[in-house]
Amino acid sequence: MHETDMTKALILTVKDWWESQPKNIQITQVHLIIGQFTCVEPASLQFAFEAQTQNTFLDGVKLVINETPLIAFCDSCQQEYHPEIGLHYACPTCHSPMEDIRSGRELKIDRIEYSSACDLGFSPNAEPLKAG
Ligand SMILES: [Zn+2]
Repeated sequence: MHETDMTKALILTVKDWWESQPKNIQITQVHLIIGQFTCVEPASLQFAFEAQTQNTFLDGVKLVINETPLIAFCDSCQQEYHPEIGLHYACPTCHSPMEDIRSGRELKIDRIEYSSACDLGFSPNAEPLKAG
């Protein structure tokens, strides 16, 4: 997996979302979920993200990476197990090859945190403040 290409795809996705927002918002943090079985190096991704977002609408935005462990499920034993990445992809009990991956291949945006760049008083679309 090339972190550089992945970062480009990530930025495009965030940009699409950002442009679809009705108001000018300032993105502050992008939270990602990355499975350990995706072979993505979080440090490389952080580096690529920082390099590629310089002088863009994402300049200075913090990338928060949450890794999920590799978890597989054995049909024969009806149990979950944690395969040893790079070493052993089989059930530790019956040694069936790993087929059913329950977690660890995620590669997605968890959530995007932002603050409104506009003062609410100047926004025609602002919702009225609720008392109480
Ligand atoms: Zn098994």
